[in-house]
Amino acid sequence: MALGHDTVDSLGTVAALINTAATGPDALLTPADLDVFLARERFSGSRTHTAAELRAVRHLRTGLRQLWTADEERLAVGVNQLLRNARALPQVVRHDEWGWHLHCTSPAAPLEERLATEAAMALADVLRGGELDRLGTCAAPDCAAVILDLTRNRSKRYCDTGNCGNREHVRSYRSRRAATQKAAR
Ligand SMILES: [Zn+2]
Ligand SMILES: [Zn+2]
Repeated sequence: MALGHDTVDSLGTVAALINTAATGPDALLTPADLDVFLARERFSGSRTHTAAELRAVRHLRTGLRQLWTADEERLAVGVNQLLRNARALPQVVRHDEWGWHLHCTSPAAPLEERLATEAAMALADVLRGGELDRLGTCAAPDCAAVILDLTRNRSKRYCDTGNCGNREHVRSYRSRRAATQKAAR
């Protein structure tokens, strides 16, 4: 079973949220940072623009990071917890430029609940489809980013943030060249 468009979009948002804390300085330190993140992810709906809202999203980010790398059983428990905490109530909706899709909260629900249920529904799809190997972490040793592997043969190894793939490529090229030079000596 392939993952649907909604699911892929939502998983992209989850990965982006997690990765605000994965490479370089934390990119979610102020309410303004949160505005930038939500605009980039085109995540609409009600906002309070308070410190409490930011704190709740940062807390969710930590939980989602754990779920991204969790095994199947723990992921299922975590997904159900997110849905229960937000008192999820599936609704089919159409808004902005998006066609019909599911929301599990009203547009007036707190931001963290709307983010949490969207993440939970997408992760539920991952579980249902047996697609857990799509959720990975960057192979660069000094990188904490998560990756969403949408390649056909599940071959994505590096994150899209911070050029890890290039860096690793240069590193392995240098070590190969060093090895050749040593052999030639
Ligand atoms: Zn929506
Ligand atoms: Zn990386």
